[in-house]
Amino acid sequence: MTAFEAIDAPESPSPTERALGAVGRREELIPASRAYCREAAREYGLDVAFSRLDWEVSTRAKRRAAAVKRPKIPDAEIGDPLDWASLAGDWADGTDPRRCTVSLTWAAYEAFDRAEWAATLRHELIHVEQFQRFGTTDHGAAFRERAEAVDAAVRCRPFADPKYVLRCSACGTVVGRRYRECAIVREPERYRSSCCEASVECSRSRDGE
Ligand SMILES: [Zn+2]
Ligand SMILES: [Zn+2]
Repeated sequence: MTAFEAIDAPESPSPTERALGAVGRREELIPASRAYCREAAREYGLDVAFSRLDWEVSTRAKRRAAAVKRPKIPDAEIGDPLDWASLAGDWADGTDPRRCTVSLTWAAYEAFDRAEWAATLRHELIHVEQFQRFGTTDHGAAFRERAEAVDAAVRCRPFADPKYVLRCSACGTVVGRRYRECAIVREPERYRSSCCEASVECSRSRDGE
């Protein structure tokens, strides 16, 4: 947590959202993300059955920050609520066709700031809501409307680029990259480059998109 946050300010994040920014180890990402999602579902009125939701953290390099893995339901269509009860009998392998998995990409968590990660989770919750209701999900008109309502992006930005680049002020060499705000980003003047023993300059890399 940064020291800058005014905990009681009206716009300050909730405890579960704050906890999203404090994940240090991979094992902590699922519990923190799940807790935030439960709260976000209540706050934004997302209709999600968490008892039918599985979670995983992917450590392979991916361009997608997160994804919902789900069974393919024949003839399912957005806008056409699925009769799950009639479907269960056809599901030969004994798995619950309603179960789906939210897959979180660790590298994206590291690259995103807390607000971006929270918005990413809300985006995935819309996919879960759609899947659990209709048996399928996409980024169509219904999704866009929902995304606007819960303040989530329709498309997530790629996360391969670091947020901050640190350069030696004397020779311009890149001496570091940071994916989130930290001490050296806040006060680069307190550091010296190893190449020239010169001051370090910090710039935001490709802010936004
Ligand atoms: Zn999506
Ligand atoms: Zn230098």
